[in-house]
Amino acid sequence: MFLGHFAVALGAKRIAPRASLGTLVVAAQLIDLAWPALVLAGVEVVRIDPGNTAYTPLDFASYPFTHGATSVLLWAALFGGVYFARRRYQAGAWTVAALVASHWLLDWLTHRPDLPLWPGGPKVGLGLWNSVPATVVVETALFAAGAFLYGRTTRWRDGIGRFGLYAFLALLLGISAANLLGPPPPSPEAIGYAGLGLWLFVALAAWIDRHRVVRETIDVPARD
Ligand SMILES: [Zn+2]
Repeated sequence: MFLGHFAVALGAKRIAPRASLGTLVVAAQLIDLAWPALVLAGVEVVRIDPGNTAYTPLDFASYPFTHGATSVLLWAALFGGVYFARRRYQAGAWTVAALVASHWLLDWLTHRPDLPLWPGGPKVGLGLWNSVPATVVVETALFAAGAFLYGRTTRWRDGIGRFGLYAFLALLLGISAANLLGPPPPSPEAIGYAGLGLWLFVALAAWIDRHRVVRETIDVPARD
């Protein structure tokens, strides 16, 4: 799932308005941000297998450290803890921890049973990806809801905040469509290097967020 993780990051701005969208994206995508590096290092394994599910040609053969349920809980606690230590923003800390965990839940909904509960443990996955139409409907609906919430929580301060956001959302939709309609990636290494590009979206999200402000109608708690 690609768009869905951005959707929850965008929507989470409503719950933690003082957190940067860049941070919210890092949280929602934390395990996919770490995964390419582990694939390139040979620690986790992905194979190209057209038809693995209807939606993706990727076979997530082994990824217990990034996508194991127990590992993800650990990352969520760690990320929430580090965030709180640095920002002292309690709503933000709970939100980013929940976002890290949300990644696994969304992957659980979409992946075939390839997500280990713990390293070497049983693998789970509900397999939404077995249906392209169902995946597209669910993901697009989530994305629309997330973008709507972000737009209702913040308003643009300048052209970057206004048109940058539109461009960002359009870019994400375009990449999602290209992933679906394009040819499978040539090699696991190519997936690894392309995956590192996810960091670009973190930078874009943080940049756009700085050019928007939380709307006056949104209740932003003082430091807690
Ligand atoms: Zn993932």
